[in-house]
Amino acid sequence: MSGLRKLEDLSFDNTYVRLPEAFYARVSPTPLSNPCLVTFNPDAAALIDLHPDEAKRPEFVGCFGGSLALPGSEPVAMLYSGHQFGHYVSKLGDGRAILLGEIRNHAGEKWDLHLKGAGLTPFSRDDDGRAVLRSSIREYLCSEAMHGLGIPTTRALCIVGSDEPVYREKVETGAMLVRLAPTHVRFGSFEVFYYRRQHDYIKLLADYVIAQHFPTLAIAKEKYARLLDEIAARTARLIAKWQAVGFAHGVMNSDNMSILGLTLDYGPFGFLDEYHSTFVCNHSDTHGRYAFHHQPDIGYFNMRCLAQGLSPLLSQEETKSALATYEAVFTEHYAELMRAKLGLRESRPDDATLLTGLLELMQDNRMDYTIFFRSLSRFRQKPGERNEGLRDSFQDRDGFDIWAARYRERLRAEGSRDEERAACMNRVNPEYVLRNYLAQIAIQRATEQKDFSEIERLRKLLRDPFSEQPEHEQYSASPPDWGKQIVVGCSS
Ligand code: AMP
Ligand code: MG
Repeated sequence: MSGLRKLEDLSFDNTYVRLPEAFYARVSPTPLSNPCLVTFNPDAAALIDLHPDEAKRPEFVGCFGGSLALPGSEPVAMLYSGHQFGHYVSKLGDGRAILLGEIRNHAGEKWDLHLKGAGLTPFSRDDDGRAVLRSSIREYLCSEAMHGLGIPTTRALCIVGSDEPVYREKVETGAMLVRLAPTHVRFGSFEVFYYRRQHDYIKLLADYVIAQHFPTLAIAKEKYARLLDEIAARTARLIAKWQAVGFAHGVMNSDNMSILGLTLDYGPFGFLDEYHSTFVCNHSDTHGRYAFHHQPDIGYFNMRCLAQGLSPLLSQEETKSALATYEAVFTEHYAELMRAKLGLRESRPDDATLLTGLLELMQDNRMDYTIFFRSLSRFRQKPGERNEGLRDSFQDRDGFDIWAARYRERLRAEGSRDEERAACMNRVNPEYVLRNYLAQIAIQRATEQKDFSEIERLRKLLRDPFSEQPEHEQYSASPPDWGKQIVVGCSS
């Protein structure tokens, strides 16, 4: 534990507030009433060199419940705008989150400490600046689950709860979540200065992002083009990973797109239970703009928003080239990930058809996405083997047989060995994902009984989603009937 620090010794290096005042508004958190620690994540604490015992001190709840200022912090709400559901909205910014400051850890990495639900800011518009415990638990668990799955994401340090009433569809209680990320700069952070015609600020922000997060580009000849290209590649890889694991973000507005290609802003997200390509996880998304199968195209749309935001620094050719990068990287990475899910080592021309055939069959048979891919590692090639276990999970057994014959042939063609393939597949097809109903159980216990133990149980389980944990067998099950109808909206 050497090198781990106390709260008051955290090493701040607040780079963002050294940008002009136009980039943010200085504001302090508004404390919650009767704060208490709901949950704490030692993995995230390690990222900022924070000693895990610090969570036991009353000052911890003070600092992350908004009543105590951390020495060295310089709290601000960040300015941004963005395209929401396809339309430009000029007035956004951190309306309920406050960047407390940036911590430089002993490895030299910088982490934003972002306090979500911290109260009113100049960007709150008509809202209350708060977050409820329910949505804070969802974000906390999902960001850690995504990290466990190897998907780039913001992280979560802790949740502080309270007895403060917060009005959503019904009365709930307010909470604050501490989110960590190397930066919270979003696509919308650039868009806002483009629409305000403050081109000097676009350049300043681009130079800041390059210096802080893409230092190797600093001396590149076309550094802004390279920056856009790099963001395009990261965004494409991120969305390919979402598609492969069956994650629907729910609100892919350009203000929720990280310039580092991290999963950012967990609202009405959902993992696929039964496979359905048009799955819409956000019940406020009545037109299905952010349906599962639209995510790659929405990523492209958002890249165009970012390119427009950076356009004063770029030629049209450079923009076109970055957009082409997005498409090419997405196509390649998605194909690579899906091949791995199928246990295929080599790339062959017919792979896309093999995959589409499977996805259609899964959709027609309402197969659980996670369970099916996990169990596919049990497929055996030997002649005459009917793979009964898998086969019986399909209603259309003939359909399965036809697909299985093609799959067997494809495996043979590359000399696949059953045991070896199974081991590889189990490293990419998770046993556990944060199904909505699992989060819901943790939320119910927390909100109704003040029992926070299920949050910690899930966090621990989901940090290693590829290893079977027999004592937690029930967590890999498809949802019970009540858990199939959970509707999640934007209200958080
Ligand atoms: P989101 O849908 O969470 O990405 O939020 C979109 C915008 O609304 C951002 O500018 C948020 O800061 C703001 N916002 C969301 N909820 C609240 C709230 N309860 N109070 C103030 N601002 C909010
Ligand atoms: Mg947001």
